[in-house]
Amino acid sequence: MSYFADDYGTDTEAIETLQRDADLEQTAMEREGNRLAALRAKGICTHSSGVMYRDPPVYPEQAGLRPGQTRCTEGTGGCTFVANSDEEWNATQDAL
Ligand SMILES: [Zn+2]
Repeated sequence: MSYFADDYGTDTEAIETLQRDADLEQTAMEREGNRLAALRAKGICTHSSGVMYRDPPVYPEQAGLRPGQTRCTEGTGGCTFVANSDEEWNATQDAL
């Protein structure tokens, strides 16, 4: 087998591995998206977006927040969740 053929084989394998990893990642993302969409369909807020404390506030939702806090802005004002830290914000999403 020539050097070129070997090299080509390795590249193809690497590309196939990357493609498979990307496919798995895509599938996992779709599954997670479907799971969160199902929760939202049931009226459960998934806190998918939020604003962090800023002084002065840029967005109205930032008014009244204390340093470290994040307020959920998903939907149109239905959710009033405020996390007191990044850890709490992430833990709340992990618990869904
Ligand atoms: Zn929320």
